[in-house]
Formats: sequence, structure tokens, C-alpha cells
Amino acid sequence: MKFSDVKYAALNITHDCNLRCRYCYAGKKCSVSMSRETAFKAIDFLASVSDNRCTVTFFGGEPLLEFDLMKGIVQYAGDKYGDKIAFRLSTNATLLEKHHLDFFEHHGIYFVVSIDGNREQHDSQRCDAAGHGSYDHIVSILHDVLALNPYTVAVSVVVPETAHNVRDGVESLFDLGFRYVLQTLDYSADWTSADLRILRGQYSSLAKFYFKSLREGRKIYYSPFDERIKTRTQKPYKKGDLCDLANSQIAIAPSGVIYPCVQLIGNDSPEWRKNSIGDVEDGFNRSRRKWFVDQNYTTKESCTDCSLDGRCSTYCGCVNWRATGSISAVPPIICEHERMLMPIVDKLANKLWSKNIELFKRKFYDPTFPCSSYIEDCKPVDQER
Ligand code: SF4
Ligand code: SF4
Repeated sequence: MKFSDVKYAALNITHDCNLRCRYCYAGKKCSVSMSRETAFKAIDFLASVSDNRCTVTFFGGEPLLEFDLMKGIVQYAGDKYGDKIAFRLSTNATLLEKHHLDFFEHHGIYFVVSIDGNREQHDSQRCDAAGHGSYDHIVSILHDVLALNPYTVAVSVVVPETAHNVRDGVESLFDLGFRYVLQTLDYSADWTSADLRILRGQYSSLAKFYFKSLREGRKIYYSPFDERIKTRTQKPYKKGDLCDLANSQIAIAPSGVIYPCVQLIGNDSPEWRKNSIGDVEDGFNRSRRKWFVDQNYTTKESCTDCSLDGRCSTYCGCVNWRATGSISAVPPIICEHERMLMPIVDKLANKLWSKNIELFKRKFYDPTFPCSSYIEDCKPVDQER
């Protein structure tokens, strides 16, 4: 079997975090971080298994707890490999200060911010060990974050307890100035039919908001709608599009042990190491790596005759694994969620098309849109008059 070269790697530089989010999958928090020696070996390893550019995302726990280490890694990689290694960051943003932003700007490091929605929704899940919410700090630094990168992505997680708040939460994120909201369910939570009914009402309401926004020329991206419209107007997903775990994307724990995905690291204990596919010292364990890739690419028998195959987000092996314990088994909640959401999205897309909404047509049918839209966004306001 020929593996892909590694294009994306999550570098988990610490098991520690200042928050204790209720749905966290990152395992028990402890003050164990990656040593500089292991971090540099990880960079050497990634450079050796990437033919072209490898994008490394700092992960945790909360990676900003190890900002000095992060700086050392960026320096080391830049000196030795130039721009072959690019860096990104996934952060809860609660420790973010101006001097971090200066560093990220200097090194062209983009990051995503975990923020679930409005204060109520966010603070009910994303709190510290004492139970205090983390919303206010994020909002206090957001102006600087968006000034640095107006396309900063808000990553939001919905759990059954927050399902009733999805519409307000998403609207509030756009009102805060985010243009990109990437939202997913916690599929490992205990979802009931009643929760999904509530969620359906929220999506229907959000569809009206989305329609109105595009009609007014407001450029917003909301992943539950955008991704499903794309698989209808552009092309369906194929294997590897959503998740290519253990192949072109991998994760490295603070110990230097390599995993198929960051969601499979846990606290890197012997139990979790059953998921490992090598380490930065000795490289990949080929047979383990192959096993995970094969599992991820296994045809899902339950989906082969479904009209939504290719549009549904069932191709994420890590999500499957978290919810069912098997990479190749689709959790029933994904299936139910897709069957509930797809008709809402299709109805929305039909309406946007039939009402001839210009932004919709450009966004989903004009291949030059990303570029032309960016140029438009850069235009000084007085040139538009
Ligand atoms: S910020 Fe991330 S790592 Fe920390 S507790 Fe929350 S989900 Fe887990
Ligand atoms: S809707 Fe269900 S059966 Fe259809 S592709 Fe998705 S998970 Fe498979």
C-alpha cells in the first residue's frame, strides 16, 4: 500500500488546559508538556514524511500555556526548513493577549477560536475548574483578533443542553464579527429524538437568517449549511475529503507518540496507546498505520444505497470512533442528524436559487469567487462609492 505524504499534523504540545469544558475529548488534564527535544524531533520527522508543505497545528490541552515552546518550535522549523513547515493554532483564546497576536502576525500563523455561541450557551459548557465561564475574555480580545485576521474561524460545538440556543448563538457569533462559523454536534453525547426536534426548529429558523444575510450581500459561512449546499451544487464528498486519518493527516502527543488523529490521543496512557501508529524516534509503524487507513476507507454497507451518500458527513473516522468505538461504524445520531438537516438545507438552496440571490450564485457556482470576494473585501470603503 502506498501512503500519502503527511500534509497536516496536529502537534499536541501539552495535556494541560486552563479550562474544563464539559464535552472535552482531550483526556484528563495534567501538567505534562512536550519537551523541546521531542518537539524538534517531531518537526524533523514531519519534514521527512512530507514531500511538499506540511501544515502543523498547535493543539492541546491549551497550547498557549506553552507559548515559549511554541516560539522555539517555529524558530527551529523556520531556520531548518524555511516555509516547508507552516503553522496554525487551535485555541480556547482565554489566555490570548496582544503580544501573542504580534507573534502570530509576524510569522503568518492563523488560528481558530473555540467559542460556542452566545454567553449563556458558551459558559454553560466552556468553563474553568471553578466553574467560571470563559466567554468574556474571548470577547474582550476579539476586536484585535479580527483586525489581525478577519477570516478567523469560530469553532462551535452543540450538545443536547444547548440545542435550544443554536439560532441565537450562531447569530451572535456573526454579530460579534466572525464571518466563518464551523459548527458540529458532540456526537458522543446522549441525543434524544426530542433534542433533534428542537435542533430542527433552530436550523429552520437559521435558514431564514442565512437567506436574509445572503440577500443583503452579507458574506457568511455556516458549515452545517455551506458544506451541504456545496456537495449538491459542486461535487459530492469522496473518500479522504473529510477525514484522512493516519494518512495525510496525523497527530503527535507530548510524548512523541504518533496517533491517527488528535481525537485518538486522549491522555496518551497505555490504554490510549493502542491507537498509536509509531513515534517520532522510530517513525511510522506501517502495519498499524495501514490498519487505520483501511478501517477509515471501509465502505459503509449501511450507506451504499442511500441517496445522501456523498453528501452526508459520515466520512469522519474519528467522529465515528468517538461515538461508537469503531472507525468504520456510522453512529445512528449522524444518520438521523443528516436526514433531518439535508431537507432544510436543500429547501434553503432552492429558495436562494429561485429568488436569484446574486451572492448565492457567485458563492456556489462561480469558481473565481474565493479570489474575487477577497479582492472585494480588501477594497478601501471610499473606492466602493
Ligand atoms: S479548551 Fe479544549 S482542551 Fe481545554 S478543556 Fe476545553 S475542549 Fe478541552
Ligand atoms: S444519511 Fe445515514 S445511511 Fe445515508 S449516507 Fe448518511 S449515515 Fe449513511
